Amino acid sequence: MKTIGLIGGMSWESSTHYYEIINRTVARELGGHHSAQCLMYSVDFQPVVECQQAGRWEEAGEVLADAARRLEGAGADYIVICTNTMHKVAGQVENAVNIPLLHIAEVTADALLAAGIKKVGLTGTKYTMKEEFYKERLIRRGIEVVVPDETVMDRLNAIIFDELCLGEIKDTSRRYFVEEIEKLAAQGCTGVILGCTEIGMLVKQADTKTPLFDTTELHARATAMLAVRY
Ligand code: GLU
Repeated sequence: MKTIGLIGGMSWESSTHYYEIINRTVARELGGHHSAQCLMYSVDFQPVVECQQAGRWEEAGEVLADAARRLEGAGADYIVICTNTMHKVAGQVENAVNIPLLHIAEVTADALLAAGIKKVGLTGTKYTMKEEFYKERLIRRGIEVVVPDETVMDRLNAIIFDELCLGEIKDTSRRYFVEEIEKLAAQGCTGVILGCTEIGMLVKQADTKTPLFDTTELHARATAMLAVRY
């Protein structure tokens, strides 16, 4: 089995789900008492959030690059960044080490293409929805990406940072999220990406008929499968 190197803590609430899904997947695949051989470097999220807000992405990237170097030094075979947003600095992290990175948007694109989705809605932080670093990976794979309008983006972003990253789950926010998912479906999207690793704590497939692509589930499962298929 390969050794997984997880960069977590962004937020730690979602990192716990990565740890659980990865271990459940390895156990299911290998049976017995098998569990994941993995390392997690969990960062302090506050300085990372401050860098995001101030647009100091290179500084935030160095925090993650440093984590990646430590994981490589500790024996990790590949790196997994447990957040969509921080894939904005994926290149900086890749350049810091000699081991590969399992990119969350590529894993998501694989799942969308396997499901035959050609037009998808994207929800996530305002950085993930507004900027190109995430969408371009999907577009390059032939998938059309639709995002909500700016006011909706700001509200979804506030729900993520002010509630979900702090472990707060509110029914009013769930209703809002689901309404926005349905609006994306009404624009012709045959699936919607939960493109932030905390959204799955709030919205479940049972809340909507629109097929959901939960990036935490997809990324964590792909991470585990890569380890066991060694
Ligand atoms: N975990 C979130 C994501 O997947 C947001 C937190 C962050 O900014 O990293 O984008």
